[in-house]
Amino acid sequence: MTDYPLRHDWSLEEIQALLDQPFNDLLFQAQSAHRAHFDPNAVQASSLISIKTGACSEDCGYCSQSSKYSTELEPEKLLPVEDVVKAANIAKEKGASRFCMGAAWRNPTDKNLDHVIEMVGAVHDLGMETCLTLGMLTDEQAAKLKQAGLDYYNHNLDTSPEFYGEMVTTRTYQDRLDTLTRIRK
Ligand code: SF4
Repeated sequence: MTDYPLRHDWSLEEIQALLDQPFNDLLFQAQSAHRAHFDPNAVQASSLISIKTGACSEDCGYCSQSSKYSTELEPEKLLPVEDVVKAANIAKEKGASRFCMGAAWRNPTDKNLDHVIEMVGAVHDLGMETCLTLGMLTDEQAAKLKQAGLDYYNHNLDTSPEFYGEMVTTRTYQDRLDTLTRIRK
């Protein structure tokens, strides 16, 4: 089977060459890459919960959780660990193998992170994979999450660097790249 190494250094020319191929060739390559790494007929299901909702200090133009906009959203404080574990149990019963926890923060405080780490441990103990999205992280926080056994961290790039300031002004595209680098390390 062809080996498809994971790469993060694609050049624009290489990406363009991929997209210039006939559609069915592209489809075939995508299927081959999928089959090289995963059971071709299995579907992995994840369940997502908001562990802290609204009152976010960022101003992402698409988001109802930003404190900068007037929306109907009722903010909620960080959930107790027991509530999160209960929700993870329900998700597991319904067939999810991964449980994702998202918080509306620019970045977690160390105190909040300790609380989230408890959640990660408790969900892991249920035999599920864990995923977080908490905003920006420091090197120390990323290391703590690795130590806690976190499986995945989600951190969107949002849009292109050229358009970034049109969509969010409270952080930069480079801030996103820096956090992704910390997480990959
Ligand atoms: S950082 Fe996340 S929660 Fe906060 S405004 Fe942006 S998208 Fe919404």
